[in-house]
Amino acid sequence: MINRRKFIHASVFTSFAALFSKKLIGRPGIETIAAKPVVISTWDAGIDANKAAWEVLSKKGKAIDAVEKGVMVTEASQNCCVGLRANPDRDGFVTLDACIMDDKFNCGSVAFLERIKHPVSVARRVMEKTPHVMLVGAGAQQFAVSEGFPLEEQKLSKDAQEAYDKWLKKSEYKPPAINIENKQGHGPFAPTKLENGEWNHDTIGMVAMDSFGNLSGSCTTSGAGFKMRGRVGDSPIIGAGLFVDNEAGACTATGQGEDVIRVAGSHAVVELMRQGFSPEAACKKVIERIVKIKKEKAKEIQVAFLALNKKGHAGSFAIHPGFEYAIRTNEVEKLVKSKSWFT
Ligand code: ASP
Repeated sequence: MINRRKFIHASVFTSFAALFSKKLIGRPGIETIAAKPVVISTWDAGIDANKAAWEVLSKKGKAIDAVEKGVMVTEASQNCCVGLRANPDRDGFVTLDACIMDDKFNCGSVAFLERIKHPVSVARRVMEKTPHVMLVGAGAQQFAVSEGFPLEEQKLSKDAQEAYDKWLKKSEYKPPAINIENKQGHGPFAPTKLENGEWNHDTIGMVAMDSFGNLSGSCTTSGAGFKMRGRVGDSPIIGAGLFVDNEAGACTATGQGEDVIRVAGSHAVVELMRQGFSPEAACKKVIERIVKIKKEKAKEIQVAFLALNKKGHAGSFAIHPGFEYAIRTNEVEKLVKSKSWFT
């Protein structure tokens, strides 16, 4: 991943110089890219996820198909913290949460789902084939199986197994200190440190606008590593980990889910965009709200929002430095470092 990242930054640099003259890109962290189609997604895993989404978007496909195909790449990754091989809960089981939302307020979600490789696709089936929005646990799994999704064996990745074994020694549910144990400032989720020194993350959130100007989003996660059994975070909660309003914009979140849920984070960001705030300013306002609520404790948690408005402008804001997102348009494919409350 180090090499890939160097490559990305190098190629970004080259294309950056060329594109800057065309005024397509501004400074990182400023939402100056206005494009259609466009796809954005959280963390560096978003680069590969965006490629799959782009396959759909570049052929005039629908945003809803793009955001499903995109995050499926991350779910299927063998060495990532999103899918079945991710960090388990305290009892050693990987439990997955995901949701998806289209441009017409159709949405579907699954939570506390075990042994299914693509929770986002099950969420889509919930959206399309049931009268409900959300299925959880055994019921969600039963539905997935009835829809033809195979029950997989659970096999943690080597990194997740090592992280869990290490955690078991102390069995403490305590956030690692941001920027000390966790170089990406990713808060309490103890993402797995890979052999090459990179950090993996627990969630991918993606939002896209297709050639027709329609928005959709998806979010999928293994949740907080070593969480209590049954714990569900923000990622599968419509309005918290994801929200799409085709008139106003779309937003997804990553970080400490409990603090995203308490402010209905993604919904709040979209409402602020409706009032005219830019994506970055809207994300910042809601981060500010969380920081105010958490007081001193804000220093210990990470939350980031990533948003796209109807003009195709992208923007983000986080509590701590370290959050980055991937963007893909006709002109660019790059990682953007987010601005943050603490610097
Ligand atoms: N938001 C996710 C959760 O709380 C975790 C993450 O983004 O890493 O489950």
